[in-house]
Amino acid sequence: MIEHALVIGGGIAGPVTAMALQRAGIRATVYESHAGAADGIGGALTLAPNGRNALRRIGADDVVAAIGEPRPHMVMQNHTGRELARFTDLPGLPTTLLLHRSRLYRALLDETLRREIPVEFGKRLVGFDQDADTVTARFADGTAATGDVLIGADGIRSAVRGELDPAAPAPRFTGLLGLGGWIANPGLPNSGGAQHFAFGKRAFFGYSIADDDILWFSNVPAASPDEALSRSPEHWLSVLHERHADDVPARDIVALLQPADVAQPGPLEDIPTVRVWHRGRVVLVGDAAHPTSPSSGQGASQAVESALELARALRDVPTVEGAFAAYESARRARVEKVIAAAARVNSGKAAGPVARIVRDLMMPVALKTVMTPERMFGWLHTHQIDFDSPVTV
Ligand SMILES: Cc1cc2nc3c(=O)[nH]c(=O)nc-3n(C[C@H](O)[C@H](O)[C@H](O)COP(=O)(O)OP(=O)(O)OC[C@H]3O[C@@H](n4cnc5c(N)ncnc54)[C@H](O)[C@@H]3O)c2cc1C
Repeated sequence: MIEHALVIGGGIAGPVTAMALQRAGIRATVYESHAGAADGIGGALTLAPNGRNALRRIGADDVVAAIGEPRPHMVMQNHTGRELARFTDLPGLPTTLLLHRSRLYRALLDETLRREIPVEFGKRLVGFDQDADTVTARFADGTAATGDVLIGADGIRSAVRGELDPAAPAPRFTGLLGLGGWIANPGLPNSGGAQHFAFGKRAFFGYSIADDDILWFSNVPAASPDEALSRSPEHWLSVLHERHADDVPARDIVALLQPADVAQPGPLEDIPTVRVWHRGRVVLVGDAAHPTSPSSGQGASQAVESALELARALRDVPTVEGAFAAYESARRARVEKVIAAAARVNSGKAAGPVARIVRDLMMPVALKTVMTPERMFGWLHTHQIDFDSPVTV
Protein backbone atom coordinates (compact mmCIF):
# COMPACT_ATOMS: atom_id res chain seq x y z
CA MET A 1 0.00 0.00 0.00
CA ILE A 2 1.50 3.34 -1.10
CA GLU A 3 0.99 6.17 1.38
CA HIS A 4 3.63 8.77 0.58
CA ALA A 5 5.36 9.61 -2.72
CA LEU A 6 8.49 11.76 -2.99
CA VAL A 7 8.17 13.77 -6.22
CA ILE A 8 11.50 15.21 -7.38
CA GLY A 9 11.04 18.30 -9.58
CA GLY A 10 8.54 21.16 -9.53
CA GLY A 11 8.28 21.80 -13.29
CA ILE A 12 5.27 20.39 -15.14
CA ALA A 13 5.35 16.62 -14.56
CA GLY A 14 6.07 17.01 -10.82
CA PRO A 15 3.12 19.18 -9.74
CA VAL A 16 0.71 17.35 -12.09
CA THR A 17 1.82 13.94 -10.76
CA ALA A 18 1.39 15.19 -7.19
CA MET A 19 -2.14 16.46 -7.95
CA ALA A 20 -3.09 13.22 -9.73
CA LEU A 21 -1.72 11.18 -6.79
CA GLN A 22 -3.81 13.22 -4.38
CA ARG A 23 -6.90 12.35 -6.45
CA ALA A 24 -5.78 8.73 -6.24
CA GLY A 25 -5.64 8.96 -2.43
CA ILE A 26 -1.83 8.99 -2.23
CA ARG A 27 0.00 11.71 -0.30
CA ALA A 28 2.82 13.43 -2.20
CA THR A 29 5.52 15.99 -1.42
CA VAL A 30 7.23 17.91 -4.24
CA TYR A 31 10.96 18.71 -3.90
CA GLU A 32 12.24 21.41 -6.28
CA SER A 33 15.90 22.34 -6.62
CA HIS A 34 15.31 26.04 -7.30
CA ALA A 35 14.66 28.45 -4.47
CA GLY A 36 11.26 29.42 -5.91
CA ALA A 37 9.02 29.14 -8.97
CA ALA A 38 10.82 29.79 -12.29
CA ASP A 39 9.36 33.27 -12.79
CA GLY A 40 10.49 34.91 -16.02
CA ILE A 41 12.61 31.95 -17.17
CA GLY A 42 12.14 30.23 -20.52
CA GLY A 43 10.24 30.95 -23.67
CA ALA A 44 6.96 29.66 -25.00
CA LEU A 45 5.15 26.40 -24.53
CA THR A 46 2.24 24.99 -26.46
CA LEU A 47 -0.28 22.94 -24.55
CA ALA A 48 -2.05 20.70 -27.05
CA PRO A 49 -5.67 19.46 -26.85
CA ASN A 50 -4.53 16.08 -25.45
CA GLY A 51 -2.59 17.77 -22.64
CA ARG A 52 -5.58 19.93 -21.78
CA ASN A 53 -7.93 16.95 -21.79
CA ALA A 54 -5.60 15.17 -19.36
CA LEU A 55 -5.52 18.24 -17.08
CA ARG A 56 -9.34 18.29 -17.14
CA ARG A 57 -9.36 14.80 -15.64
CA ILE A 58 -7.80 16.19 -12.47
CA GLY A 59 -9.64 19.51 -12.56
CA ALA A 60 -6.54 21.55 -13.41
CA ASP A 61 -7.30 22.79 -16.93
CA ASP A 62 -9.08 25.97 -15.83
CA VAL A 63 -6.01 27.42 -14.14
CA VAL A 64 -4.02 26.91 -17.32
CA ALA A 65 -6.76 28.19 -19.63
CA ALA A 66 -6.85 31.39 -17.55
CA ILE A 67 -3.24 32.26 -18.48
CA GLY A 68 -3.04 30.80 -22.02
CA GLU A 69 -3.80 32.36 -25.39
CA PRO A 70 -5.89 30.24 -27.80
CA ARG A 71 -3.99 29.24 -30.95
CA PRO A 72 -6.40 26.99 -32.90
CA HIS A 73 -4.60 27.37 -36.25
CA MET A 74 -1.20 26.18 -37.42
CA VAL A 75 0.14 27.60 -40.68
CA MET A 76 3.11 26.16 -42.58
CA GLN A 77 4.74 28.55 -45.06
CA ASN A 78 7.85 28.95 -47.20
CA HIS A 79 10.49 31.69 -47.15
CA THR A 80 8.41 34.00 -49.37
CA GLY A 81 5.54 33.89 -46.87
CA ARG A 82 3.45 31.67 -49.18
CA GLU A 83 1.08 29.48 -47.20
CA LEU A 84 1.79 25.79 -47.86
CA ALA A 85 -0.63 24.27 -45.37
CA ARG A 86 -3.10 25.33 -42.69
CA PHE A 87 -4.34 23.03 -39.94
CA THR A 88 -7.14 23.90 -37.53
CA ASP A 89 -7.70 22.09 -34.22
CA LEU A 90 -9.96 19.07 -34.64
CA PRO A 91 -13.59 19.67 -33.65
CA GLY A 92 -14.82 18.66 -30.19
CA LEU A 93 -11.42 19.06 -28.49
CA PRO A 94 -10.06 21.82 -26.23
CA THR A 95 -8.24 24.57 -28.15
CA THR A 96 -4.44 24.56 -28.33
CA LEU A 97 -2.98 27.12 -25.90
CA LEU A 98 0.16 29.22 -26.21
CA LEU A 99 1.70 29.93 -22.81
CA HIS A 100 4.61 31.75 -21.28
CA ARG A 101 6.56 28.82 -19.89
CA SER A 102 7.24 30.53 -16.57
CA ARG A 103 3.57 31.45 -16.10
CA LEU A 104 2.57 27.84 -16.70
CA TYR A 105 5.05 26.66 -14.06
CA ARG A 106 3.82 29.27 -11.61
CA ALA A 107 0.14 28.39 -12.23
CA LEU A 108 0.72 24.65 -11.72
CA LEU A 109 2.75 25.22 -8.54
CA ASP A 110 0.17 27.65 -7.15
CA GLU A 111 -2.59 25.12 -7.84
CA THR A 112 -0.55 22.38 -6.16
CA LEU A 113 -0.13 24.53 -3.05
CA ARG A 114 -3.80 25.55 -3.12
CA ARG A 115 -4.64 21.84 -2.91
CA GLU A 116 -2.48 21.69 0.22
CA ILE A 117 0.18 19.50 -1.34
CA PRO A 118 3.55 20.41 0.23
CA VAL A 119 6.24 21.84 -2.07
CA GLU A 120 9.77 22.21 -0.69
CA PHE A 121 12.07 24.57 -2.58
CA GLY A 122 15.86 24.59 -2.53
CA LYS A 123 15.94 20.76 -2.46
CA ARG A 124 18.35 19.46 -5.11
CA LEU A 125 18.35 15.67 -5.18
CA VAL A 126 21.88 14.25 -5.25
CA GLY A 127 21.08 10.58 -4.69
CA PHE A 128 18.73 8.01 -3.21
CA ASP A 129 18.82 4.74 -1.28
CA GLN A 130 16.13 2.10 -1.27
CA ASP A 131 15.33 -1.15 0.50
CA ALA A 132 12.39 -3.54 0.28
CA ASP A 133 9.93 -1.15 1.97
CA THR A 134 11.10 2.45 1.61
CA VAL A 135 13.16 4.87 -0.45
CA THR A 136 15.15 7.83 0.86
CA ALA A 137 16.06 10.89 -1.20
CA ARG A 138 19.27 12.72 -0.35
CA PHE A 139 19.50 16.45 -1.04
CA ALA A 140 22.45 18.77 -1.64
CA ASP A 141 21.68 20.74 1.54
CA GLY A 142 22.43 17.63 3.63
CA THR A 143 18.79 16.80 4.40
CA ALA A 144 16.91 13.63 3.44
CA ALA A 145 13.30 12.48 3.02
CA THR A 146 11.84 8.98 3.16
CA GLY A 147 8.73 7.70 1.38
CA ASP A 148 7.19 4.63 -0.22
CA VAL A 149 8.13 5.59 -3.78
CA LEU A 150 10.38 8.20 -5.43
CA ILE A 151 9.22 9.79 -8.68
CA GLY A 152 11.89 11.47 -10.81
CA ALA A 153 10.18 14.44 -12.50
CA ASP A 154 13.46 16.30 -12.75
CA GLY A 155 13.60 17.05 -16.46
CA ILE A 156 15.86 16.30 -19.40
CA ARG A 157 19.06 16.28 -17.28
CA SER A 158 17.45 14.07 -14.63
CA ALA A 159 19.68 13.18 -11.70
CA VAL A 160 17.23 10.39 -10.82
CA ARG A 161 17.70 8.87 -14.30
CA GLY A 162 21.48 8.94 -13.87
CA GLU A 163 21.23 7.11 -10.53
CA LEU A 164 18.73 4.57 -11.87
CA ASP A 165 20.90 3.71 -14.85
CA PRO A 166 24.44 5.10 -14.91
CA ALA A 167 24.65 3.91 -18.55
CA ALA A 168 21.62 6.01 -19.59
CA PRO A 169 22.41 8.08 -22.71
CA ALA A 170 23.04 11.80 -22.38
CA PRO A 171 20.68 14.17 -24.24
CA ARG A 172 21.29 14.03 -28.01
CA PHE A 173 22.02 17.33 -29.79
CA THR A 174 19.77 17.74 -32.84
CA GLY A 175 22.19 20.09 -34.63
CA LEU A 176 19.89 23.06 -34.02
CA LEU A 177 19.92 25.90 -31.52
CA GLY A 178 16.72 27.61 -30.48
CA LEU A 179 16.44 31.37 -30.02
CA GLY A 180 13.21 33.17 -29.26
CA GLY A 181 10.89 35.02 -26.92
CA TRP A 182 8.30 37.74 -26.77
CA ILE A 183 8.72 41.32 -28.03
CA ALA A 184 6.28 44.24 -28.13
CA ASN A 185 4.24 44.50 -31.32
CA PRO A 186 4.83 47.88 -33.00
CA GLY A 187 1.77 47.41 -35.23
CA LEU A 188 2.20 44.24 -37.30
CA PRO A 189 -1.15 42.62 -38.20
CA ASN A 190 -2.61 40.14 -35.70
CA SER A 191 -2.16 36.48 -36.73
CA GLY A 192 -5.80 35.73 -35.87
CA GLY A 193 -5.11 32.82 -33.54
CA ALA A 194 -2.52 31.21 -35.83
CA GLN A 195 0.97 29.97 -35.06
CA HIS A 196 3.11 30.33 -38.18
CA PHE A 197 5.94 27.92 -38.98
CA ALA A 198 8.14 29.07 -41.84
CA PHE A 199 10.75 27.04 -43.72
CA GLY A 200 13.17 29.91 -44.21
CA LYS A 201 15.94 29.81 -46.81
CA ARG A 202 18.71 29.30 -44.28
CA ALA A 203 16.88 28.63 -40.98
CA PHE A 204 13.45 27.76 -39.61
CA PHE A 205 11.33 30.57 -38.16
CA GLY A 206 8.15 30.56 -36.08
CA TYR A 207 5.94 33.44 -35.00
CA SER A 208 2.54 34.36 -33.69
CA ILE A 209 1.38 37.97 -33.61
CA ALA A 210 -1.09 39.27 -31.02
CA ASP A 211 -2.22 42.90 -30.70
CA ASP A 212 0.31 43.69 -27.96
CA ASP A 213 3.14 41.27 -28.49
CA ILE A 214 4.88 38.94 -30.92
CA LEU A 215 6.13 35.48 -30.05
CA TRP A 216 9.04 34.52 -32.32
CA PHE A 217 11.61 31.76 -32.51
CA SER A 218 14.33 30.67 -34.88
CA ASN A 219 16.12 27.32 -35.10
CA VAL A 220 19.61 27.84 -36.49
CA PRO A 221 22.03 25.02 -37.37
CA ALA A 222 25.11 24.76 -35.13
CA ALA A 223 28.10 22.43 -35.02
CA SER A 224 27.98 21.99 -31.25
CA PRO A 225 25.57 22.72 -28.39
CA ASP A 226 28.38 24.62 -26.65
CA GLU A 227 27.98 27.44 -29.19
CA ALA A 228 24.82 28.40 -27.28
CA LEU A 229 26.91 29.57 -24.34
CA SER A 230 30.16 30.67 -25.95
CA ARG A 231 28.88 33.44 -28.26
CA SER A 232 27.61 36.95 -27.45
CA PRO A 233 24.04 38.23 -27.98
CA GLU A 234 25.43 40.55 -30.70
CA HIS A 235 26.77 37.47 -32.50
CA TRP A 236 23.36 35.79 -32.40
CA LEU A 237 21.61 38.91 -33.62
CA SER A 238 23.92 39.07 -36.64
CA VAL A 239 23.35 35.34 -37.27
CA LEU A 240 19.58 35.92 -37.31
CA HIS A 241 19.92 38.88 -39.70
CA GLU A 242 22.05 36.80 -42.06
CA ARG A 243 19.97 33.59 -41.84
CA HIS A 244 16.63 35.33 -42.37
CA ALA A 245 17.71 38.05 -44.83
CA ASP A 246 15.56 36.48 -47.60
CA ASP A 247 12.63 35.37 -45.44
CA VAL A 248 9.29 37.17 -45.30
CA PRO A 249 8.10 38.23 -42.73
CA ALA A 250 10.92 36.82 -40.55
CA ARG A 251 13.35 39.57 -41.59
CA ASP A 252 10.84 42.25 -40.47
CA ILE A 253 10.48 40.63 -37.06
CA VAL A 254 14.25 40.10 -36.71
CA ALA A 255 14.70 43.81 -37.50
CA LEU A 256 12.79 44.59 -34.28
CA LEU A 257 15.13 42.56 -32.04
CA GLN A 258 17.69 43.94 -29.59
CA PRO A 259 20.71 41.94 -28.31
CA ALA A 260 18.89 41.35 -25.01
CA ASP A 261 16.16 39.49 -26.94
CA VAL A 262 18.62 36.84 -28.11
CA ALA A 263 20.62 36.40 -24.90
CA GLN A 264 19.40 32.88 -24.04
CA PRO A 265 19.91 30.46 -26.95
CA GLY A 266 19.52 26.80 -26.05
CA PRO A 267 20.34 23.55 -27.84
CA LEU A 268 17.43 21.46 -29.17
CA GLU A 269 17.92 18.03 -27.60
CA ASP A 270 16.11 14.74 -27.14
CA ILE A 271 16.71 11.11 -26.14
CA PRO A 272 15.04 8.64 -28.52
CA THR A 273 14.85 5.86 -25.90
CA VAL A 274 15.44 5.98 -22.17
CA ARG A 275 16.01 2.28 -21.56
CA VAL A 276 15.32 2.13 -17.80
CA TRP A 277 12.19 3.91 -16.55
CA HIS A 278 11.99 2.28 -13.12
CA ARG A 279 13.82 0.09 -10.65
CA GLY A 280 12.53 -1.01 -7.25
CA ARG A 281 10.65 1.93 -5.73
CA VAL A 282 11.96 4.59 -8.12
CA VAL A 283 10.38 5.69 -11.41
CA LEU A 284 10.77 8.46 -14.01
CA VAL A 285 8.06 10.73 -15.48
CA GLY A 286 7.98 13.63 -17.98
CA ASP A 287 11.20 14.76 -19.66
CA ALA A 288 13.21 12.55 -17.29
CA ALA A 289 11.66 9.50 -18.99
CA HIS A 290 10.92 10.80 -22.49
CA PRO A 291 12.67 14.07 -23.40
CA THR A 292 11.50 15.33 -26.78
CA SER A 293 12.85 18.37 -28.62
CA PRO A 294 10.54 21.42 -28.61
CA SER A 295 9.74 20.68 -32.29
CA SER A 296 7.13 18.16 -31.12
CA GLY A 297 5.09 20.89 -29.42
CA GLN A 298 4.24 18.04 -27.03
CA GLY A 299 6.81 18.15 -24.19
CA ALA A 300 4.36 19.56 -21.67
CA SER A 301 1.35 17.58 -22.92
CA GLN A 302 3.18 14.24 -22.81
CA ALA A 303 4.47 15.05 -19.31
CA VAL A 304 0.87 15.62 -18.17
CA GLU A 305 -0.38 12.40 -19.79
CA SER A 306 2.41 10.35 -18.18
CA ALA A 307 1.74 11.94 -14.78
CA LEU A 308 -1.88 10.76 -14.88
CA GLU A 309 -1.07 7.24 -16.06
CA LEU A 310 1.55 6.87 -13.32
CA ALA A 311 -0.84 7.98 -10.56
CA ARG A 312 -3.58 5.73 -11.93
CA ALA A 313 -1.29 2.70 -11.94
CA LEU A 314 -0.08 3.37 -8.38
CA ARG A 315 -3.72 3.66 -7.27
CA ASP A 316 -4.90 0.41 -8.88
CA VAL A 317 -2.03 -2.07 -9.19
CA PRO A 318 -1.27 -3.83 -5.89
CA THR A 319 2.55 -3.92 -6.11
CA VAL A 320 4.93 -1.05 -6.78
CA GLU A 321 6.87 -2.93 -9.47
CA GLY A 322 3.60 -4.01 -11.09
CA ALA A 323 2.31 -0.43 -11.08
CA PHE A 324 5.50 0.90 -12.66
CA ALA A 325 5.41 -1.82 -15.33
CA ALA A 326 1.74 -1.04 -16.13
CA TYR A 327 2.57 2.66 -16.38
CA GLU A 328 5.53 2.04 -18.70
CA SER A 329 3.49 -0.25 -20.89
CA ALA A 330 0.73 2.39 -21.17
CA ARG A 331 3.18 5.13 -22.14
CA ARG A 332 6.41 3.98 -23.81
CA ALA A 333 5.24 3.37 -27.38
CA ARG A 334 3.30 6.62 -27.56
CA VAL A 335 6.02 8.90 -26.19
CA GLU A 336 8.74 7.33 -28.35
CA LYS A 337 6.53 7.88 -31.41
CA VAL A 338 6.26 11.57 -30.45
CA ILE A 339 10.05 11.86 -30.01
CA ALA A 340 10.68 10.20 -33.40
CA ALA A 341 8.14 12.46 -35.15
CA ALA A 342 9.86 15.55 -33.71
CA ALA A 343 13.26 14.25 -34.90
CA ARG A 344 11.85 14.04 -38.46
CA VAL A 345 10.59 17.63 -38.15
CA ASN A 346 14.10 18.70 -37.10
CA SER A 347 15.61 17.15 -40.24
CA GLY A 348 13.10 19.07 -42.39
CA LYS A 349 14.06 22.32 -40.69
CA ALA A 350 17.58 22.09 -42.13
CA ALA A 351 16.46 21.33 -45.71
CA GLY A 352 18.79 22.31 -48.58
CA PRO A 353 17.73 24.10 -51.82
CA VAL A 354 16.62 20.96 -53.70
CA ALA A 355 14.63 19.59 -50.76
CA ARG A 356 13.07 23.04 -50.46
CA ILE A 357 11.77 23.02 -54.04
CA VAL A 358 10.45 19.46 -53.71
CA ARG A 359 8.72 20.35 -50.44
CA ASP A 360 7.04 23.45 -51.87
CA LEU A 361 5.73 21.40 -54.81
CA MET A 362 4.70 18.35 -52.82
CA MET A 363 3.13 19.84 -49.74
CA PRO A 364 -0.03 21.21 -51.39
CA VAL A 365 -0.56 17.80 -53.10
CA ALA A 366 0.10 15.91 -49.88
CA LEU A 367 -2.38 18.12 -48.09
CA LYS A 368 -5.18 16.85 -50.27
CA THR A 369 -4.22 13.19 -49.73
CA VAL A 370 -2.12 12.13 -46.73
CA MET A 371 -1.63 15.35 -44.73
CA THR A 372 -5.19 15.75 -43.50
CA PRO A 373 -5.55 17.19 -39.97
CA GLU A 374 -7.03 13.86 -38.84
CA ARG A 375 -4.04 11.89 -40.11
CA MET A 376 -1.48 14.40 -38.90
CA PHE A 377 -2.89 15.11 -35.45
CA GLY A 378 -5.70 12.64 -34.76
CA TRP A 379 -3.48 10.09 -32.99
CA LEU A 380 -1.90 12.84 -30.90
CA HIS A 381 -4.74 15.16 -30.01
CA THR A 382 -7.69 12.79 -29.52
CA HIS A 383 -5.84 10.62 -26.99
CA GLN A 384 -7.86 10.36 -23.78
CA ILE A 385 -6.83 9.03 -20.39
CA ASP A 386 -9.77 7.54 -18.51
CA PHE A 387 -8.33 8.43 -15.13
CA ASP A 388 -11.29 7.22 -13.09
CA SER A 389 -11.56 3.76 -14.64
CA PRO A 390 -9.43 1.02 -13.01
CA VAL A 391 -6.15 -0.10 -14.55
CA THR A 392 -6.30 -3.77 -15.48
CA VAL A 393 -3.04 -5.64 -15.81
C1 LIG B 1 14.98 25.95 -19.20
C2 LIG B 1 13.98 25.21 -20.05
C3 LIG B 1 13.32 25.89 -21.10
C4 LIG B 1 12.37 25.22 -21.91
N1 LIG B 1 11.73 25.91 -22.90
C5 LIG B 1 10.81 25.28 -23.68
C6 LIG B 1 10.11 25.97 -24.69
O1 LIG B 1 10.31 27.16 -24.86
N2 LIG B 1 9.21 25.28 -25.47
C7 LIG B 1 8.95 23.94 -25.27
O2 LIG B 1 8.12 23.34 -25.99
N3 LIG B 1 9.59 23.26 -24.32
C8 LIG B 1 10.50 23.89 -23.54
N4 LIG B 1 11.14 23.20 -22.57
C9 LIG B 1 10.78 21.79 -22.44
C10 LIG B 1 9.50 21.62 -21.72
O3 LIG B 1 9.45 22.60 -20.73
C11 LIG B 1 9.43 20.18 -21.19
O4 LIG B 1 9.09 19.24 -22.20
C12 LIG B 1 8.42 20.03 -20.09
O5 LIG B 1 8.62 21.12 -19.21
C13 LIG B 1 8.58 18.70 -19.37
O6 LIG B 1 8.19 18.85 -18.04
P1 LIG B 1 9.03 18.18 -16.86
O7 LIG B 1 8.30 18.57 -15.63
O8 LIG B 1 9.23 16.75 -17.17
O9 LIG B 1 10.48 18.83 -16.89
P2 LIG B 1 10.90 20.33 -16.53
O10 LIG B 1 9.85 21.27 -16.92
O11 LIG B 1 12.27 20.52 -17.06
O12 LIG B 1 10.94 20.37 -14.92
C14 LIG B 1 11.93 19.71 -14.18
C15 LIG B 1 12.02 20.37 -12.83
O13 LIG B 1 12.89 19.62 -12.02
C16 LIG B 1 13.76 20.48 -11.32
N5 LIG B 1 14.99 19.73 -11.05
C17 LIG B 1 15.98 19.40 -11.91
N6 LIG B 1 16.92 18.67 -11.31
C18 LIG B 1 16.53 18.52 -10.01
C19 LIG B 1 17.10 17.89 -8.87
N7 LIG B 1 18.27 17.22 -8.95
N8 LIG B 1 16.43 17.93 -7.69
C20 LIG B 1 15.25 18.59 -7.59
N9 LIG B 1 14.66 19.23 -8.66
C21 LIG B 1 15.30 19.20 -9.84
C22 LIG B 1 13.97 21.64 -12.29
O14 LIG B 1 14.39 22.81 -11.63
C23 LIG B 1 12.57 21.78 -12.88
O15 LIG B 1 11.76 22.64 -12.12
C24 LIG B 1 12.08 23.84 -21.72
C25 LIG B 1 12.73 23.17 -20.65
C26 LIG B 1 13.67 23.84 -19.82
C27 LIG B 1 14.33 23.11 -18.66
